[in-house]
Amino acid sequence: MSAYWGKYAASNPQSKGAHQKHACWKCDELIRTAKFIGTPGKGILAADESTSTIGTRLQSINVENTEANRQALREMLFTAPGIHQFLSGVIMYEETLYQKTLAGKPFVKLLEEMGVMTGIKVDTGVVPLAGTNGETTTQGHDGLGARCKKYYEAGARFAKWRAVLKIGHTEPSELGIQQNAQGLARYAILCQENGLVPIVEPEVLSDGTHDIRKCAEVTERVLAACYKALNDQHVLLEGTLLKPNMVTPGSEAPKVSCDIIAKFTVRALQRTVPPAVPAVMFLSGGQSEEEATVNLNSMNALQTLKPWTLSFSYGRALQSSVLKTWGGEKKNWVAAQRVLYNRAKANSEAVLGKYKGDSGGDSGNLFVKDYKY
Ligand code: 13P
Repeated sequence: MSAYWGKYAASNPQSKGAHQKHACWKCDELIRTAKFIGTPGKGILAADESTSTIGTRLQSINVENTEANRQALREMLFTAPGIHQFLSGVIMYEETLYQKTLAGKPFVKLLEEMGVMTGIKVDTGVVPLAGTNGETTTQGHDGLGARCKKYYEAGARFAKWRAVLKIGHTEPSELGIQQNAQGLARYAILCQENGLVPIVEPEVLSDGTHDIRKCAEVTERVLAACYKALNDQHVLLEGTLLKPNMVTPGSEAPKVSCDIIAKFTVRALQRTVPPAVPAVMFLSGGQSEEEATVNLNSMNALQTLKPWTLSFSYGRALQSSVLKTWGGEKKNWVAAQRVLYNRAKANSEAVLGKYKGDSGGDSGNLFVKDYKY
């Protein structure tokens, strides 16, 4: 048992029994990993698109969805010079976890040498939740403990599980909220028992005509349910990370300023996310590259109580312009890597609340209806 956990158990009589049975031997490591990922000024590159999702991205630049092309894209991203200054982690899909550079170095090793931790997407996607109006639950619990163990042995140190909630007249339903919170909590404890820091991702989709208040209300209900479930499952919150949506108006509603988004988002977190959680790593959720950066910057510039690092774990908002610049051509590598460098640097500055709006480019709207990852 770690010293930290021993202290916790001794000072908390309720921790005797079930609490003491789980991942104690890994507690120090889990806490260290989560803290490291939340290093101020650093964030996560989410490059864990499933084979079919990355196929859609490659199709948009007329590149065939072959393993060689997927490897080339990921090698281009991970070898971008200087990127390690702005990244603490990269999330991969299983195929990528076992891939190497063309010169033969495993991606996990390459990143480790750069001081960047590897994460792994462990959910297997969403399925309809029976009896609801198109709500979903996320699958992937079967054999999850064994898979986490295998991924840890392959060098992964954190994991991601995406639960999806939607806003409608009667959605999310209580059933949808509870099922997804339970699913995330069960995933989280299985990760911790096998040494992986779980990123808890309850994404409230931006699809719809609702205003920012509605998004705030739903986000707060969802986050409150998640932290109740995580505590009920004896998850060590210090060894977790949260990956939420920002609180914004719906995709079909009038836009609001970054300052308003920052205030609503930070307030939703203040009301629901315990200070034991070291960092909140936002998803970009269809915002343009520049919007995702500017909104994050506004949150970090806000003078209010923020006991967590507020950072990024962007997929589309870090990769869209990079993909277009690359176009599947080796001759475009340097230019594409430069685009990634500039976006990652801008987001790193945003984590420190120091972004000046000088990243020199934007992708335009990246919204995809009913987004699948
Ligand atoms: P976006 O930043 O493109 O929303 O994706 C992040 C992610 O990892 C979703 O699960």
